Amino acid sequence: MLSDARAALQTIFGYPDFRGVQADVVTRVLTGRSTLAVMPTGAGKSLTYQLPATMLPGTCVVVSPLIALMHDQLRAATAVGIRAATLTSVDENRAETRRRFLDGVLDLLYVAPERASGGEFRDLLDRGKVSLFAIDEAHCVSEWGHDFRPDYRLLRPLLDRSPDVPRLALTATADAHTRADILEQLGIAADGLIVAGFDRPNIRYQISPRDNVTRQIADLIAETPGPGIVYVPSRAGTEKMAAALAKTGRPTRAYHAGLEPAVRAANQAAFVASENMVIAATVAFGMGIDKPDVRFVAHAGLPKSIEAYYQETGRAGRDGDPAIAHLFWGADDFARARQRIGEVEPARQSGERQRLNAMAALVETPSCRRRLLLQHFGETDAPVDCGNCDNCLNPPASIDATTVARKFLSAVFRTGQLYGVGYVEGVLTGQSSDRSLQNGHENLSVFGIVSGDEAALLKPVARALLARDALRANPHGGLEFGPGAKALLKGDATLDLIVPARRSRRARGAAID
Ligand code: ADP
Ligand code: ZN
Repeated sequence: MLSDARAALQTIFGYPDFRGVQADVVTRVLTGRSTLAVMPTGAGKSLTYQLPATMLPGTCVVVSPLIALMHDQLRAATAVGIRAATLTSVDENRAETRRRFLDGVLDLLYVAPERASGGEFRDLLDRGKVSLFAIDEAHCVSEWGHDFRPDYRLLRPLLDRSPDVPRLALTATADAHTRADILEQLGIAADGLIVAGFDRPNIRYQISPRDNVTRQIADLIAETPGPGIVYVPSRAGTEKMAAALAKTGRPTRAYHAGLEPAVRAANQAAFVASENMVIAATVAFGMGIDKPDVRFVAHAGLPKSIEAYYQETGRAGRDGDPAIAHLFWGADDFARARQRIGEVEPARQSGERQRLNAMAALVETPSCRRRLLLQHFGETDAPVDCGNCDNCLNPPASIDATTVARKFLSAVFRTGQLYGVGYVEGVLTGQSSDRSLQNGHENLSVFGIVSGDEAALLKPVARALLARDALRANPHGGLEFGPGAKALLKGDATLDLIVPARRSRRARGAAID
């Protein structure tokens, strides 16, 4: 069985052999066993259903959430001679596609979940032969996943109508909780779980607080030849960033969903073809793009979860050569994210909060970033120090800032949990102003209790307090206590601050010169 598959792999795809867990997944599918494959981006998920689709009698139905992604896959499959079609609202050849399915001359049929769960599609399937159900981006079926889509829940009845047709659920991003949920939601036995290794050893992970992010990214670009992606949180931000980075002399483009389709396509094509272009993009960019030589991925703002971070940074260095993933974060990212969580439906808040806290732990950790990432994906036997992340290469000095943190929290409390970081800082350092006079805050015991070295810690402390939810910012920027405040005030928690590695490296370099 596997040797047939390997032969097909060579003749159809031209690859000498399977990679990683592909062989296991394909073997299971060919023997009719339902499977959930958790494989990182770039590990070659598509092949695990495309190849069986060409070998099994009937059509493999692929459920996929994005039309753009489907059309990309369709192009790639057709290019290697696989008989494939998409059935979406933008396809004008839907009647022809249905006929091809009924005639049994389609290997792959791509469809969106909302169509797949409809009556018309069910009737179509009843009249033809399905070899396999492939459910792409399967984490969308779980409320625990970071991208829940209710339409995915409606697939189950369709799958259950054909109990003998194997199901192959695929995702790049699922923590243990989400995996268990996917298995249950899609009716796949627990022993059907196959997880590929998540480590991307050639990617160097770097994480720094944001300072002047355009300059920080320009510095990164100057040190890193080759194509790079800069993820920017807003559409307008991508265009601004592209314009600013053009000054580095590198060819630069912007990409976001609001651009004219022709411009967007041209910018994407230019990037894919280029050997040194920097593209400033929203996270809409990258899905389905196969560019192996991306040398860096920079984040100008916080990704929405570790899963998202892993997936987005995973677009760097697919060719296995050294690549850099550099995340620049600010306390306001956390403040905004926590505010958004407050607005989602209550049932989902705790999951969202856990996701954000995991992200906070990643940016705050003074130890190996890779170990923390891999542990998040359940790889507990990860090496202690990877030797290829900022913290391993430049162990940051960390200082105990618990006392300063307590002073900061006291000042927030005594000023009524109404003011922003700058004002609280002013009170603590004893800066007299009209406002502090008027408010009577100059009489507070916390007025002017911080000086010298401690004063320099106030901003980083505020950032750390916001990241770990000891402080929250209200919509007007005023700080108030979050659930993490109590432990610090009571002395049950400490706050260690990382002294930024970049600065210490510069200082050391200067000393050697
Ligand atoms: P994923 O969907 O998991 O992110 P893809 O299916 O897009 O990954 O595959 C990533 C890249 O790896 C593609 O260029 C694909 O052609 C290539 N690839 C997949 N399987 C193999 C293999 N066995 N040998 C060599 N290249 C492969
Ligand atoms: Zn490390």
